[in-house]
Amino acid sequence: YSEEDNADDYLFKIVLIGDSAVGKSNLLARFARDEFYPNSKSTIGVEFQTQKMDFDGKEVKAQIWDTAGQERFRAVTSAYYRGAVGALVVYDISRRQTFESIGRWLNELHTHSDMNVVTILVGNKSDLKEAREVTTAEGKALAEAQGLFFMETSALDSSNVTAAFETVVKEIYNILS
Ligand code: GDP
Ligand code: MG
Repeated sequence: YSEEDNADDYLFKIVLIGDSAVGKSNLLARFARDEFYPNSKSTIGVEFQTQKMDFDGKEVKAQIWDTAGQERFRAVTSAYYRGAVGALVVYDISRRQTFESIGRWLNELHTHSDMNVVTILVGNKSDLKEAREVTTAEGKALAEAQGLFFMETSALDSSNVTAAFETVVKEIYNILS
């Protein structure tokens, strides 16, 4: 019985935000199912996906929410953010415009959720080296100024995807345990 009890010990809601087409749905697909969609449309988004993780023998469930494309219409609702304890704020390193939107996403996050939500700034599509428009140093500097974790990822080649989600979940776990 105690094992069953442990299974429900921790459930963390984590939201993915950022401009359309930065790779949010593919980061989640890569993390939760090790899948990638080369020509994905917003339709592949699911409402949320639950992923089990282990920290010091404790089972933690990360419930990761995807916008399913509603950000295109600037209609990410307050329900989306409600109860979130973690956030991945994502831009595309090959499109500067998506980096310039980060401030707006952080404002929205802080309007709709707790100020203490554990947040990582994610520069996705690090595989697109030739097309890079935002340097690693710029991403790092913004993260430092805003007090965020920072990582560059690629949902395509998998680099840092698990690490980015784990950074958030581990920090939440450390704060709450
Ligand atoms: P979302 O709108 O933020 O959910 O973005 P999607 O996950 O739907 O991705 C938008 C497009 O970018 C799709 O064509 C993906 O295949 C592509 N994409 C996503 N992540 C990466 C990545 O890390 N590298 C590259 N090269 N393309 C990516
Ligand atoms: Mg999507």
